[in-house]
Parts: sequence; C-alpha cells; structure tokens
Amino acid sequence: MSEELNPFAIAQKQLDQAAEIMGLDPAVHELLRWPLRELHVTLPVKMDDGSVKIFHGFRVQYNDSRGPTKGGIRYHPAETIDTVRALAAWMTWKTAVVDIPLGGGKGGVICNPKEMSQGELERLSRAYIRQVGRILGEEVDVPAPDVYTTPQIMAWMMDEYSFMRGYNVPGVITGKPIPLGGSQGRGDATARGGMYCIREAGKVLDIELKGATTAIQGYGNAGQFAHSLGEELLGLKVVAVSDSKGGIYNPDGLDPQAVLAHKQETGSVVDFPGAQNITNAELLELDVTVLIPAALENQITADNAANIKAKIVAELANGPTTPEADEILFKNGVYVIPDFLCNAGGVTVSYFEQVQNAYDYYWDEETVHERLDKKMTAAFHAVHEAAQKHGVHNRMGAYVVAVGRVAEACKLRGWV
Ligand code: NAD
Repeated sequence: MSEELNPFAIAQKQLDQAAEIMGLDPAVHELLRWPLRELHVTLPVKMDDGSVKIFHGFRVQYNDSRGPTKGGIRYHPAETIDTVRALAAWMTWKTAVVDIPLGGGKGGVICNPKEMSQGELERLSRAYIRQVGRILGEEVDVPAPDVYTTPQIMAWMMDEYSFMRGYNVPGVITGKPIPLGGSQGRGDATARGGMYCIREAGKVLDIELKGATTAIQGYGNAGQFAHSLGEELLGLKVVAVSDSKGGIYNPDGLDPQAVLAHKQETGSVVDFPGAQNITNAELLELDVTVLIPAALENQITADNAANIKAKIVAELANGPTTPEADEILFKNGVYVIPDFLCNAGGVTVSYFEQVQNAYDYYWDEETVHERLDKKMTAAFHAVHEAAQKHGVHNRMGAYVVAVGRVAEACKLRGWV
C-alpha cells in the first residue's frame, strides 16, 4: 500500500506541513512532533467465568503548555499506542483551536466492550484508573468518554479515583452523569458543535442547508445526535446513516427517532423498514450536500476521495481523512470542516464541566448552548480566515491557528 495509514505518522505529517507554511521554529516543530509523556499499563481483570484476563492500556499526555492535558479514553479491540498518540496530538490542536486553557491527552484500552458484561467493564475501568490514576488529576490530566466508553464508565472511574485520593474529586473526569457533577448539554455537545460549524460553512459557501441531503457514517454518540440535531437545528435531510454492520439509504429522508429505536431493538441500523441497505463505502460516495463521517479513522483515503460528491464534509470522527485524500478533496472544491475543529464541541463542554465542578455551581442547558455556540463560531471563522489567507485547505488553516497558539505558550514558558 502506497499511502501511510498509521494515524500518528499522519498526525506528524500534518504538523510538518503546517510548520512549513508557518515557518515554525525548528526546535518548536520537533518538540510538537512528540508526546511529552506516555504511560503503558497492564491490567489483570477477573472475568465473570472466574478466569483472569490481562488487558493492555495507555495514557498519553501530549502537550500541557496551555493547561492540564485533556482527552477521552477509548475501549477498542484494535487500539494501538500510535492511535492514542495521534489522538492526543489532535486533542492538543483541538483545545488550542477553540481557545480553551487545556492541553491534549488521550487514553485507550485494547478490549472488546461488546463482548464484556457490565461487571467486567466496571472491573476493567477501575483497574485502568488504579494504574493511570497516579498521573491524572483535575489540574494535571482530565479524561473523558470516547469510542465505546460511556457516562457510566466515567462514573466508575471518578469513583475509583476519589477512593485513591480519599475524597470526592468530580473534576478529575468529564462526561459524568449529571447527578455526579456532569454538565447539562454534554451528551450531544460534539454533534451540536459540529452543527454550529456546518451552519457557518453554509453561510460562507452560500449553501442553503434547509432540506440539504446529508449522509452520516457511524451511529454512536456523535452520529445519532448529528442525525437528530442536523434536522432540528439546520433542517438537514438525512438520507443515509450507517454503523459497523452497514448502512441504510432513503432519498426521502430517515426519521431519527425511528432509526434509533430500530438500532436499539436490533443492534444495528441495517434492515430499517422502508430503506435500502447500502455499504459504508457506498454511503461515503453518495451524491449528498453534507457528508458527516462520525465513526473511525481512515475512511476517506486516496482510493475513494475522488468519488466524494458532498460539498461539505463535516468530520465529527477523529482522523477520517488521510493527507492524500485531503489534497484530492481540496482540489475538487470539497469544503472539509476538519476533525479537531468540527468535533471540538465535546471537549468545549467538557471544559465547561470542569469549570462548573471547580466552582461547584451549575449552569442551565441554555447557557451551555450559548457559550458553546460562541466558542465554535469564533473557532470556525479563525480557521476559515487562516485557510483563505494562506491559500490552503481548512485542516491546514486549523493547524496554523492551533499550532501557533501552542508554540506561543511553549515559547512564553521558556521551553524553546
Ligand atoms: P461510539 O462508540 O458512540 O460510536 C461509534 C459508531 O461507529 C458506532 O455506531 C459503530 O457501529 C460505528 N462504527 C464502528 N466501525 C465502523 C465502520 N467501520 N464503519 C461505519 N461505522 C462504524 O463513538 P462516538 O463517541 O460516536 O465517536 C465516533 C467518532 O467521533 C470517533 O472518531 C471519536 O473519536 C469521535 N469523537 C467523539 C466525541 C464524543 O464526544 N463522543 C468527541 C470527539 C470526537
């Protein structure tokens, strides 16, 4: 295969390109190519059948020059340290692009949560925190949910960490259930932030979004809320959605509540009554106005980028587009809202959650939405303007904004 698909190599390559455009100081560039710290952990977990299974996990603290590191924990059978490093790097750029006082980190455990009971997941989550907890803290590194981790898992982790410290520490983790100090508006924040970006993209591109056909790949937290909020906030007509088992298509539109109920009942969106089954590959190439990758990395590559017909690609997933594909999309006039801008709503409301925990004073949902909108809208236009100014695609525009801010913090601290 000619194309590099290692996510960390991709993250480094993206940074290298930005460094060149910006004329970044070589020492700052080299510093930002690597995580500052990473911890590898081995976790023995008692399984329901009485056996003990050994799991492996990671926590990467990529850069904390702008504040405590922040980033989700993923449970995935194909998790690798390089994926976690790449995601930690992207968290660094993400917190910088939305201008919140945090750095970037990420965690992961190699496991298949679909094959584990609730009890096994709880014991694994507590085991992970017993190992990783020594480098966490509300002023040090604050995890959150990500692929296949949930508010319940965050609650167990916060509880375990609080036991380690000897008192209640809600601010050590975000994405908690609301009774344990979670924020209003955190559940749909990633998708909502993405919708604010699509709204602004519609304005700068002069595209009417009401009734605009939309396809969504992935039907988890990000994808499901993108479906319902896309319809509710922007009037998008979602004609195709998918999950790991495949996709569905109906040119007349898909009802979010009905598709969700079908998925909850059957375990997949596939075979939804009245829709045609399609593959994930077909979904990406549909003739739609808006395409929302909301599943995993490396979905739009050099192999299929030329076939993408969407006018706007709004990346709710992390790393769905490879650098070669980026160039092809840019040449073809596809407007990409890059991942670490488009999906920054989650970390922004996570930051709001940290602030509320620190003050022990909680905001209503409307306040969260207003403050999120302000942050996302400002970030969107900073990126759009940087891309226009340098004549590059939006991902590079986002890098220029984010790397510039992180580089400035490293310099002001006297690191380089
Ligand atoms: P999730 O675990 O809730 O859902 C993932 C979805 O992707 C599931 O529907 C799964 O079936 C589907 N999927 C898995 N493999 C697939 C494949 N090969 N093709 C199509 N679909 C596939 O995860 P999530 O929280 O929705 O995260 C999705 C993406 O969004 C990830 O890249 C994640 O890093 C990113 N993201 C999520 C958040 C958040 O707050 N949830 C924040 C920022 C970024």
